[in-house]
Amino acid sequence: MTKNTDLHSILKTYFGYDTFRPLQEKIITDVLNGKDTLVIMPTGGGKSICYQLPALALSGITIVISPLIALMKDQVDGLNTNGINAAFINSSQTEAEQHAIYDRVKNNDIKLLYAAPESLSYLESIFTNTEIALIAIDEAHCISSWGHDFRPAYQQLGFLKNRFPNVPVIALTATADKATRDDIVNQLNIPNATQYVASFDRSNLSLNVKPGVDRMQQIVRFLENHTNESGIIYCLSRKSTEAVATKLLKEGFNAIAYHAGLGHEERSTIQDQFINDDIQIICATIAFGMGIDKSNIRWVIHYNLPKNMEGYYQEIGRAGRDGLASDTLLFHSYADVVQLRQFAEKTSNSEVQLAKLERMKQYSDALTCRRKILLSYFGEYLEEDCGNCDVCKNPPQFFDGTIIAQKALSCIARLKEQEPIGTVIDVIRGAQNNTVLEKGYNHIKTYGIAPEISWNNWQQYIIQLINMGYLEIAFHEKNTLKLTTLAKAVLFNNEKVPLTKPTDVKIEAPKKTVE
Ligand code: ADP
Ligand code: ZN
Repeated sequence: MTKNTDLHSILKTYFGYDTFRPLQEKIITDVLNGKDTLVIMPTGGGKSICYQLPALALSGITIVISPLIALMKDQVDGLNTNGINAAFINSSQTEAEQHAIYDRVKNNDIKLLYAAPESLSYLESIFTNTEIALIAIDEAHCISSWGHDFRPAYQQLGFLKNRFPNVPVIALTATADKATRDDIVNQLNIPNATQYVASFDRSNLSLNVKPGVDRMQQIVRFLENHTNESGIIYCLSRKSTEAVATKLLKEGFNAIAYHAGLGHEERSTIQDQFINDDIQIICATIAFGMGIDKSNIRWVIHYNLPKNMEGYYQEIGRAGRDGLASDTLLFHSYADVVQLRQFAEKTSNSEVQLAKLERMKQYSDALTCRRKILLSYFGEYLEEDCGNCDVCKNPPQFFDGTIIAQKALSCIARLKEQEPIGTVIDVIRGAQNNTVLEKGYNHIKTYGIAPEISWNNWQQYIIQLINMGYLEIAFHEKNTLKLTTLAKAVLFNNEKVPLTKPTDVKIEAPKKTVE
């Protein structure tokens, strides 16, 4: 293999940059020395150059495996604009188009060839007749059922190393916890790959979590502090993207809904308008954001709880790519957890999905620095608290919550542990709705023992009791609340229970059910 190792001049000539970002040069040097590597770098960190530059420096062709045909085209166009010969091959092309590419490969006219894992069969003749310089596997987390975006077709990629033992493999991803990383290198048959993990700390993003009550009012208040600043509101469903956008329009904001149900053209128009600052606010499902390069997104709101930390990190990471201060706000709702659990239980790897959801929930419930929790998920440990999350800025204030806890726990005992959180709160507060009256709960001893505490605050207290292990939610028994042995110590031995003051959100009239 001939090598052009003047890396800086290639960086300047083809990419227009004077210096490498952290880790890029080390990774590239490893690749040029024929080593296998696994690169974990946040979105926008500069992964592409780690294989694009070696592709230019090495003789032969670099095969890039990438999951999305749509993104492939953009990348190839971008490379061609920079004077780099690149192409993609996939099932959407005619035979003639594919042959044209084979011819170019034969004539050494292509340095980078992109393909989806499903299209590997198209590469057979290239594999047999061509010098392969490097194999790059983008979005490598897709190989692992531990990852958050598992694609079965990725699992066949392990054969590449067996077939080309002397060709270096570089696997890249923006999100992979430790278990996923180990799974990636094992499945790709590159167990000795050097793992490069760039820092995931995006200290310019403020991290905030609020209870998911009166979300629209909270959003409007938030937006009043972000006049004319671009941002994204992520919602769980298409319907809610539209509902949120409609409400914001009514309030006079420049907002629009975006989801996979819109036509291709409509979506790309919206993207362009957003990038050009003609639209301020996108209310989107997670379909929005992949491949969008807008550096001045100033805030991201999660209307619903994301289903895992990887998704959450990736979505908030779309804010502040220019390095300037940006705000993120996550609404944490108990009803979302219940719904996401139901989704997770229906997936083929439900245990993994449920464990990931649990981590997400723990993050939202956290009483310690959130950034520490977020980074530790990715295997990175902060020495000091970050100072830029809501917990750091407003540390929780504990008080003696024993009496509150006793009231809740004894009410649950008297309801024979047969009711979910909403009914428990209604009974404690003496609500007069159908469920309560029909079941005769107005006659039990704990009915109406604490109406002075608002519905929302009761909800927060009970969630704290769940998180501290005094209560459990029986997800398979209509989400009823069950007492644990810890609860019995509070009820019968007068054990003390510290609680924290509820987050300040506007207090509403009692509700019948949880939002
Ligand atoms: P990723 O694939 O990790 O999300 P990209 O490879 O798309 O990130 O890079 C993100 C942005 O950073 C791109 O606009 C890219 O051109 C730019 N970039 C990459 N490396 C450098 C560098 N060494 N100096 C300046 N900009 C860079
Ligand atoms: Zn913090």
